[in-house]
Amino acid sequence: MPELPEVETVTRQLSAVIADKIVQKVTVFKSKSWVGEVVKVEGQQIKEVSRRSKIIRLRFADNLNILIHLKMSGQLIFVDGQTRVGGGHPTADWTNHLPSKHTRVMFKFTDGTQLFFNDQRIFGWMKVMNDEEVAQEFALLAPDANSSEITLPYFAEKIAKRNVPIKQLIMDNQVIAGVGNIYACDALNLARISPLRPAASLSPVEQKKLLESIQTVIALGIQKGGATVHGKYVHVTGMSGHYQEVLRVYGRKGEPCPNCGAPIQKIKLAGRGTFFCPNCQV
Ligand SMILES: [Zn+2]
Repeated sequence: MPELPEVETVTRQLSAVIADKIVQKVTVFKSKSWVGEVVKVEGQQIKEVSRRSKIIRLRFADNLNILIHLKMSGQLIFVDGQTRVGGGHPTADWTNHLPSKHTRVMFKFTDGTQLFFNDQRIFGWMKVMNDEEVAQEFALLAPDANSSEITLPYFAEKIAKRNVPIKQLIMDNQVIAGVGNIYACDALNLARISPLRPAASLSPVEQKKLLESIQTVIALGIQKGGATVHGKYVHVTGMSGHYQEVLRVYGRKGEPCPNCGAPIQKIKLAGRGTFFCPNCQV
């Protein structure tokens, strides 16, 4: 699943190429993937591409927006002749002919360029919303992991008195928005804290270390353009990221821990594959 750094990367890349473009036609191949009236968007100019948590926002003039969530397997691919820009879940559709059988929505712009929303598993969505509806949607989310609103007192208050494992808590979008499995595993390793620890058991020093570690791995993820963990597609220019080259523990079962050299273990925690070092993460 694309996490905050991957969605931030797609947002930045798309912003560079589709801001100011005018939508000529929207074709919806899968009604489940689209909520709203196509005619509201056609003829409208994109003013801004931004991100909140893992939601991408296309803002138009006149109180009109499209919110986009890539969920498990979504991709956004902008096509201008031979050039492709975008990203999301890495599959053969990054390079295949588009539209593909996984294309759910297709935008054609007035200059002939196109934007494809592909989604194998159809959990992702595009929703047409006015500004008020966008504000309501965003009000449900905690501040972003890389936002200055996540202060140590905020974080300490959110994790005190909670007995769920700390890894599960930092992946909760009501606590911090945008930390998924990859960055949660890596942040806990950097902080040398076991993912299994009850959240409330963290000392003030550990709380501080963990928050700093979350911010460090998210910032590194953004700097690396996100992670492309399916090896086959890591070299697709314009779409792949490079965080996978600096992963600390995620996906590295049996390899040496970057802190202490002991072998990294994999367990299941709340249904998710969880990588950690039992030697130095206590
Ligand atoms: Zn270790």
